[in-house]
Amino acid sequence: MGVRNCNKCGKIYNYDGFPYCSRCRREEEELFQKVKAYIYNNPDATIQEVSEETEVSTKKILNYLRQGRLEVKDGSNLILDCERCGQAIKTGRFCNKCAYELGRELVGAIKNDNKPFRTKKTGRNMNVKDRR
Ligand SMILES: [Zn+2]
Ligand SMILES: [Zn+2]
Repeated sequence: MGVRNCNKCGKIYNYDGFPYCSRCRREEEELFQKVKAYIYNNPDATIQEVSEETEVSTKKILNYLRQGRLEVKDGSNLILDCERCGQAIKTGRFCNKCAYELGRELVGAIKNDNKPFRTKKTGRNMNVKDRR
């Protein structure tokens, strides 16, 4: 913990795990609620329209979607594509299939990475890995 500069306004605040000070965080939350309410009332709107009506940048709206904070209905125009295969998805960064496959690849990678550690006990390997 301790004191940090807010990522948005640059003011010093007591860091508690969030990149923004409490004031900016409240503003961010209001923007999010505005977008959420607009999409709820206008489920057919495109990201562009939502952005124009709420005055929230499309980048932010996409971020909400990617973070899984906004969930859109079937047939909605708010479409994201999977960052891996490009398939249309409704929320998050990857389609279910890719999320599953990526999860497995990750587990595999971690396992492979650990192997040389266990066989050699010199401790020099630690340094080799850190330099990578
Ligand atoms: Zn701030
Ligand atoms: Zn995919």
